[in-house]
Amino acid sequence: MPDPRLSALLDELEDDMSPEAAATFAAIAADYLRETRTGEGPVSTPLSAADIVARFDEPMPRTGHPLGEVAERVRKEIVADSNRLYHPMYVGHQVSAPLPAAVWSEVVTSALNNSVAVWEMSPTLTVLETQVVRWFADLAGLGPVAGGTITSGGTEATFTALLAARSAAIPDVWTNGVGAEPPVIVCGEHTHYAVARAAGAMGLGLRSVIQVPSLDKRMDVSALARALEELEGSGRRVMAVVATAGSTATGSFDDLPTIADLCDARDIWLHVDGAHGASALLSPTRQGLVRGLDRARSLAWDPHKMLLLPLAAGMVLVRDERVLGTAFAQQAPYLFHATSGERSWDMGPRTFQCSRRADVLKLWVALQRYGADGLGLLFDRLCDTTLALYEAINARPDFEAMHAPDCNILCFRYLPTPELDSARQDELMKRLRERYNRSGAGWITTTVLEGRQVLRVTIMNPRTSNEHLQSLLDGLAAEGRVLAASHSHQDIPA
Ligand SMILES: *Cc1c(COP(=O)(O)O)cnc(C)c1O
Repeated sequence: MPDPRLSALLDELEDDMSPEAAATFAAIAADYLRETRTGEGPVSTPLSAADIVARFDEPMPRTGHPLGEVAERVRKEIVADSNRLYHPMYVGHQVSAPLPAAVWSEVVTSALNNSVAVWEMSPTLTVLETQVVRWFADLAGLGPVAGGTITSGGTEATFTALLAARSAAIPDVWTNGVGAEPPVIVCGEHTHYAVARAAGAMGLGLRSVIQVPSLDKRMDVSALARALEELEGSGRRVMAVVATAGSTATGSFDDLPTIADLCDARDIWLHVDGAHGASALLSPTRQGLVRGLDRARSLAWDPHKMLLLPLAAGMVLVRDERVLGTAFAQQAPYLFHATSGERSWDMGPRTFQCSRRADVLKLWVALQRYGADGLGLLFDRLCDTTLALYEAINARPDFEAMHAPDCNILCFRYLPTPELDSARQDELMKRLRERYNRSGAGWITTTVLEGRQVLRVTIMNPRTSNEHLQSLLDGLAAEGRVLAASHSHQDIPA
């Protein structure tokens, strides 16, 4: 006699495969999209982390509950107090209001559960990944033997690219390590922390990361030239120069043609961190931002940023696909069946991950549904909206923009009257952001730029319009006036 609990459970598995069960969860997502896109309701939750801890503080369920009950909890306890990235007033981090067709395709990816590590585990999706990577490598102009893989994001993409650069600089590194005098990585001061993290993780140590100062929010190319000359003079080898196409803080693009000239003259590996901005390649009007990208030896590019895919979808591209094999120079013959001379479809030897989700499917679906030109139009839409915010700020006395936006990121400040000293002004920016976000009216970020606390907006939702941004500025100014009045009377606590 089988355990009756097991029989019941097996029946439940059957029931949960039905279209009705699927619709239960699909309805939650569809309702969320419908309710949020109109811009009604709060953008985030007023609850504190402690409130939410209390909500989920219960023993692990030993027995299951009806599917409808579980779905209701997801709706009421998860969705209700999540950040609504679909809300047009969410203009915070670089995380998208995801393209709906891509969202719906996710469930197919999970249902299939084909791991793209090896062809035998994923006969269609490993091939699809190679094809999609080929499209993007061609778009970037990386040449006929280029390759790459989908990654969990820009951090893994840059890590992978720099591992390949490390193997090029130290061919026996996989066996013997980096040695006492490892080569250095040269990058801009505004570089994403993915670079320092990679240097730490691959054993180079942070002292092997040389930061070049910024000029006007981008890498100062004269300072780069001097740094490379000094390194050459002192006999230190350079493993890679990392340029940024779309910096995290301000969305600025480094001068790729000049940086590529400096690298070519010394035969240095140029890695471009285009996690945020490489998508400019699809834009009908802004491709100039990434001129020179075709000269990179490796490129990080996140479709989950400006191609508006749901997390996670990153990508690493390299000029010569074979360097990915050398980045992970490890043998696993029971898995990888490359017959000598022939290109293997197996992705495992080219990536850090083993089992790997087929995140390529949502990218392929988004391209099929909206087209590369459609995604390019959306890129421009996000940038145009950001430009309109910049102009709106310039037209007001109570705000100051910190830079003209290159893409969809803008840093600015609220200017209280009467003026506050810089320490109080910085403190005010932090509090203003907290208060505004907690109000539910909108959601922005803050960062430190050239030593000053500033407000920061990233437009990742094509539904965000100029009217929404007027309301953002009015809302911030209203909160700002209240805070400034209290700040001019009180001392700012340390
Ligand atoms: C977002 C970002 C990263 C990190 O990418 P993840 O996908 O978050 O891992 C790296 N570099 C830049 C410039 C970024 O904007």
